[in-house]
Amino acid sequence: MSATEYTVHGAVAVIQFNNPPVNSLSHAVRSEIFAALEKAAADAAVRAIIITGTDKAFSAGVDIKEMGTPKGTAHPTLGDMMGQLDGIKKPVIAAMSGFAVGGGPILGLACHYRIAAKGTRISFPEIDIGRVASPGTQLLPRLVGVDNTVDILIGGKVIPLDKAKTTGLVDEIIDGPLVPGAIKFAEGLLAAGKGVRRTRDLPVPASDGKTFNDRKFPRGMTVGNIILDCINAASTMPYEEGMQYAHHKSREFVQTVESKALRYVSAAERTAAKVPDVPADTPKRAIKTAAVLGAGTMGGGITMCFASAGIPVTLIEANQEALDRGLATIKRNYMATASKGRLTQADVDKRMGLITPTLDRNAAATVDIIVEAVFEDLDVKCEVFKALDAIAKPGAILASNTSGLDIDKMAAMTKRPQDVIGAHFFAPANVMRLLEVVRGAKTAADVIATTMDLGKRLGKVSVLSRVCDGFICNRMMKPVRLQANVMLDEGASPKQIDDAMYAYGMAMGPFRTSDGSGIDVSWRGRLSRKKQGLPFAPDPVADALCEQGRFGWKVGKGWYRYEADGRGGYSRTALQDPEVDALIAAHRKSLGVTPRDISEAEIVERYMFALADEGAKILEEDVAIRASDIDVTYLTGRGFPVHKGGPMFYADTVGLKNVVAAIERFQKGYQGQLWQPSKLLLKLAAEGKSFQDYDAKK
Ligand code: NAD
Repeated sequence: MSATEYTVHGAVAVIQFNNPPVNSLSHAVRSEIFAALEKAAADAAVRAIIITGTDKAFSAGVDIKEMGTPKGTAHPTLGDMMGQLDGIKKPVIAAMSGFAVGGGPILGLACHYRIAAKGTRISFPEIDIGRVASPGTQLLPRLVGVDNTVDILIGGKVIPLDKAKTTGLVDEIIDGPLVPGAIKFAEGLLAAGKGVRRTRDLPVPASDGKTFNDRKFPRGMTVGNIILDCINAASTMPYEEGMQYAHHKSREFVQTVESKALRYVSAAERTAAKVPDVPADTPKRAIKTAAVLGAGTMGGGITMCFASAGIPVTLIEANQEALDRGLATIKRNYMATASKGRLTQADVDKRMGLITPTLDRNAAATVDIIVEAVFEDLDVKCEVFKALDAIAKPGAILASNTSGLDIDKMAAMTKRPQDVIGAHFFAPANVMRLLEVVRGAKTAADVIATTMDLGKRLGKVSVLSRVCDGFICNRMMKPVRLQANVMLDEGASPKQIDDAMYAYGMAMGPFRTSDGSGIDVSWRGRLSRKKQGLPFAPDPVADALCEQGRFGWKVGKGWYRYEADGRGGYSRTALQDPEVDALIAAHRKSLGVTPRDISEAEIVERYMFALADEGAKILEEDVAIRASDIDVTYLTGRGFPVHKGGPMFYADTVGLKNVVAAIERFQKGYQGQLWQPSKLLLKLAAEGKSFQDYDAKK
């Protein structure tokens, strides 16, 4: 229920709206403010007007529930209110507090003055939700200049309040109760004879255009350039014309797949936190201290996550040398961030001060959560869990960072399987946004709730998976790798496949990725499985490369070759190598395959549909809760281009019927038996449904 209060204090009218929880500008609220503004404008005793929200929120902008409904576009729209404010002959002041997001501060921009309570968090994050913030592109440059506008609208981040003041976005910061401060500010204006100051009438200060030229956006993503184009229009066109241009661009963009994908991803990230059988009010265990076991690549990064979030963390190693090396890497990483100006020396010292290195496992006895990041070997992990069970205090969460081993087997080594969970971070753990939380068969609801919430505290997106080989993210990689090899056998070169996926928007194609992480890792895995008589997927060309010592970038040759960089390492530039071509050609010959041309479109289809099909199997087996969780996993864990929405969203945009038709085509081709489409995918396609329809039923 909204409630807008209208009060008059001397010559100042105060319009205070309150629409919990985020003070959205719903149709009801807009109507109430509109009516109150009319009343204040008509009252001769009122000489200045204040619009304000609540302590918690000035406003989070339009009501998302009303988007796409008649109420969303019913009079008075935000645009109507802006027109009304333009016509009022008394100064109108936006008095902001709490958070002011998107449409909220846009209403503020249309007011004649803006003041903010200490701690107000103003942001224009429209870019993240596939929108252009068209009024912002025209009004902000007039207040803060073109360069700051670019930072604000492209960055989408909260604007530090002192910066809002120095740039002219807000006129005053109020220390103390907001409404009395705002009334005082209004009285000051009146006393000084200052009246209406419409933002639209202010000139746009000249800019050298450097901010425009310096901007780089993810490949294939257009929203950034559209926003820049609209900001540029503010400098080159009269206000009305610029605003019309920006509205037109905005309306056009909202219809694009890119805009839909960005909105989808933004909603998907929020939805991922919801676990149907773990209600939001599930009590969480307190996590005040942590321990990390293993100071290697992952343990070091995970330790940084805790320290950066202000959580004291004990870093436990099996040997002194590894501990020293791990700690030195952590320090080097923090110092590198500091050298870029993103941390102060005091921040670095504080974070390092929160880390206690030790060789003594018993130091984990008092902490609230222990994350093990020791070698990826089930026997080693099981031994560690058995030991932790004897050491950890009752109620402590015992988490494993395994990339895909069976959490239930580890839990079975303890007398408290309910406290055991997977907390799968991605490398580099201090950078990558994904935390794949893996619930075992016996993991308690409060342990799930606490670990999901911990991810958020560590600045990550938590996605819940059940136990299966590779969980969601790594499992998805396997069929893709297989298809890459099939295409190699059939006639495509590693470069052709990598180039097609790069052009699609992936940071790197599968062969360059394999070179980067080391081809020998999976080769050793295959050798070890072979020795143990366990099943494994053969990879003959990769085996041949490894047998020749071509382990990848780290040794200067793998699927590609890399020139020495003169510093003992290798350049990142991947060069095609005739030796590899010859090896692939010999392999094709041994298979009796006559190479054929494979188009870029087919490469992308095979790659993407292999992902979507595996995703459907993951859903079918209930490993992931929703298709959108799979997309979030792939976007945040594998660097999938955000403006493409993720592999499941992509399959939806192609149409699942078309996906199935393509898979049926592939089934008839070389190695067609590898395509065994999921029952769920076939069912949805037959019913003319999408993965988003499937999610809607969850
Ligand atoms: P790593 O070899 O770099 O580090 C492992 C560390 O654990 C070593 O320093 C070792 O001395 C230490 N260690 C071994 N046994 C120990 C014990 N009993 N007690 C204390 N320390 C012990 O390995 P990593 O790449 O950091 O991988 C660690 C875990 O993280 C594995 O389960 C791996 O699958 C998983 N993981 C790795 C990545 C990655 O890209 N490297 C990504 C996600 C998850």
